[in-house]
Amino acid sequence: MYMHQPGQPTSDRKRPITKHRCAVCDRWVPIRLLMCGEHWRLVPADLQLAVYRTWNALSRAAHRMSYARCRREYDQASNAAISFVASLIKGETPEPETPLPKGD
Ligand SMILES: [Zn+2]
Repeated sequence: MYMHQPGQPTSDRKRPITKHRCAVCDRWVPIRLLMCGEHWRLVPADLQLAVYRTWNALSRAAHRMSYARCRREYDQASNAAISFVASLIKGETPEPETPLPKGD
């Protein structure tokens, strides 16, 4: 399915998008992955789990009423993972993020 990620151009709809750039660096990764392996490794296990879980819920909800909520939860989880890694890279201690979505 098509997923819009921040910074990804939306104009090219001619072919299915199967790759996008890592949320942290410029490496190309499969669309289902949030980050390249190097950066994903830095994400704590509970955050990785939250991203996986909300992504799966979002995929299932693609054409349903619950899409907006699932989208919000996925965005929350993925943003938490992205800012965690971004903080690590900048040499800061990552701040505790907003509580993770619990899922269904
Ligand atoms: Zn990366």
